[in-house]
Amino acid sequence: MRLLSQRLLLILLLCLAAPAFAAKPKAIVLFYADDLGYGDTSAYGQAKVPTPNLERLASEGCRFCDAHSATPICTPSRFSLLTGRYAFRRPGTRILDGDAKLILPVEGSGEENVTLPVLMKRAGYRTAAIGKWHLGLGKGDAPIDWNGTIKPSPREVGFDKSFVMAATADRVPCVFVEDGAVVGLDPNDPIEVSYDNAERKWPDELTAHSNPELLKEWGRPSDRQHDKTIIDGISRIGHMRGGKSAIWKDQDIADRITAEAEAFIKESSGKPIFLYFATNDIHVPRDPSPRFRGVSKLGIRGDATVQMDDCLGRIRKALAENGYNDTLFIFTSDNGPKVSDGYEDGARDDWADENPAAPFRGGKYTVYEGGTRMPMIVAWPGRVKPGTENHALISQTDFARSLAKIVDVEVPAGACSDSQELSYVLLGDSEKGRESLVEQPAWGAWGYRKGAWKLIDSAEPQLYFLDDDPGERNNLAKEQPAKVAELRAELRALTAQ
Ligand code: CA
Repeated sequence: MRLLSQRLLLILLLCLAAPAFAAKPKAIVLFYADDLGYGDTSAYGQAKVPTPNLERLASEGCRFCDAHSATPICTPSRFSLLTGRYAFRRPGTRILDGDAKLILPVEGSGEENVTLPVLMKRAGYRTAAIGKWHLGLGKGDAPIDWNGTIKPSPREVGFDKSFVMAATADRVPCVFVEDGAVVGLDPNDPIEVSYDNAERKWPDELTAHSNPELLKEWGRPSDRQHDKTIIDGISRIGHMRGGKSAIWKDQDIADRITAEAEAFIKESSGKPIFLYFATNDIHVPRDPSPRFRGVSKLGIRGDATVQMDDCLGRIRKALAENGYNDTLFIFTSDNGPKVSDGYEDGARDDWADENPAAPFRGGKYTVYEGGTRMPMIVAWPGRVKPGTENHALISQTDFARSLAKIVDVEVPAGACSDSQELSYVLLGDSEKGRESLVEQPAWGAWGYRKGAWKLIDSAEPQLYFLDDDPGERNNLAKEQPAKVAELRAELRALTAQ
């Protein structure tokens, strides 16, 4: 009897020491916008870009003010989110070409390599990746076989279902890949892809140089990278020929991937699901459906943002209609804004008087706060307090351990090594987030956050105190050399390989 009561006491103590969540959510949806800045939507103060679905999500959940992507660019941010590791830990996590090899570890390649979708699978969730991929495909030991089975693909890294754009909309091939096969391909019209630097790869190739008359008004390149094969009236990075029946129409991408998400939700028939939905919006080339043209007051870039908001609303509606009210919904973006990024689409003029990272400085490619400080909204009915705000420092790298905790699955030793278990922050219960954060640059100097302090570790270091100076204008480095030295030592110790 005494032994039994001791055991009961021990169990009670264990429960108090490590409180578990009452129940797992039936669905976890990670809605990942592309190149969307902190100040780009009406949910974060941009009244000229109406995003009612985001506003509704914020009114039902928690709006974060100091949430970060791992880097200010696409590929490494996505790598960090899905692995729980800083991207600089793995060589080759730069912005990838459309024919690059897969950079995520495949399922079964070692417990220390476990990915977020594999953890979700282990917790009993049916997993899907829908939308933009940009993490490479295939092994890299041979060119990707766009005309056969592409392996490894998202399926091999833990997604039961995948329907993805191989890379980005501005890179070839401009086709969807579903569970390792190009969608709608005619085998008699095989796809060829090349990323060599030739102005024209094939004598009959239509490029921005050879046939500028074929370009849509907003499909004209503004640099020498985006001037290769013309597809759907837009010149791209890289060369592609063949695959005519499989080529997407840019104006249909948002509708197409949203329809795939709706289908996945429906066909899951109430089983637990983890949906990683990565929008193409508002990355270039911005070519929203005609029904969104002119709906914002800030041109095509604002219109693409309203389209993204519509997709979010449709996915939430599909969840509600299919018995997934018990959904943990996370909305965020992969890096900060870049108004004009490769095309003459008018955005430069439309946004001349606006700061899409407001109130922060910088954007995509930079380590000023605008590069990695992301809009982030988290909702979970009955669990996350509606209409709240959270100021804790948190990184997308922390999603892996935090979500693992929420679904009560063990993270193996050595896995997700840069991820911090901040589930109580993610769910809005606490504002005690990370103490520090590495901001990996696209190139150049590194950024480092420690509380409200911010170091940019350039030859002439920059030191800011964000509580007083969120816009990073007042460089305190000369006044505070000891603080610079302290932060620099910590940053360099964290990033030493
Ligand atoms: Ca991006």
